[in-house]
Amino acid sequence: GASTESGIPDFRSANGLYADAKVEMYLSRGYYNRNPKEFWKHYKAIFQIDTFHQYKPNEGHTFLAQLEQTGKDIVVLTQNIDGLHQRAGNTNVLELHGSIIRIKCTVCDFQDEIKSSFDSLPPNCKCGSILRPDVVWFGEPLPQDVWQEAIDHANSCDVMIISGTSLVVSPANTLPVYAGQNGATLIEVNPDETLMSRDMDLSIKTTSSVGLPKLLTYCRS
Ligand code: ZN
Repeated sequence: GASTESGIPDFRSANGLYADAKVEMYLSRGYYNRNPKEFWKHYKAIFQIDTFHQYKPNEGHTFLAQLEQTGKDIVVLTQNIDGLHQRAGNTNVLELHGSIIRIKCTVCDFQDEIKSSFDSLPPNCKCGSILRPDVVWFGEPLPQDVWQEAIDHANSCDVMIISGTSLVVSPANTLPVYAGQNGATLIEVNPDETLMSRDMDLSIKTTSSVGLPKLLTYCRS
């Protein structure tokens, strides 16, 4: 949700990019394995990779970066794959679904950001293997080290702010449950009622870019 306010399509909404059944096929491991060149063509088109830098962090992202600058111990756990939290200035970001602007090798440990257009498709690693996006594909499990770290933070945080998520995507939607069990204060910012709205200590019914900056008054007090 934080990303849609920066103009990035919501991949899971009815009109989102993933609504087209073919897109789900293109963005799969099987399709990449069968035809990496075609995969990369579709991937670049679907995510507008060459012009992705046009999207900018919004007030919601900025709030979380400002919170970190106050010296508070902030960890961003995100299902977003656009890198905007890092661009806003947060240094501790756990990307549960990976990132569409990073690439990685499936053979060696090479990984990097996509900085410019590729000379040829599919892009190759120095080791000779084909590079893939460092994003979690349909049907793939979350990166287990990242997921475990997210659970550890949920189990030990004092406050969890849950923003811009309808809490329907598993298993990320279980993180507030861990935080609640650990006695953390739960704050929700979302335009609509969610499955966990009743469990929140504070529920602000608006979008991330509007609701998160409002929390600054609470942070100062
Ligand atoms: Zn390699």
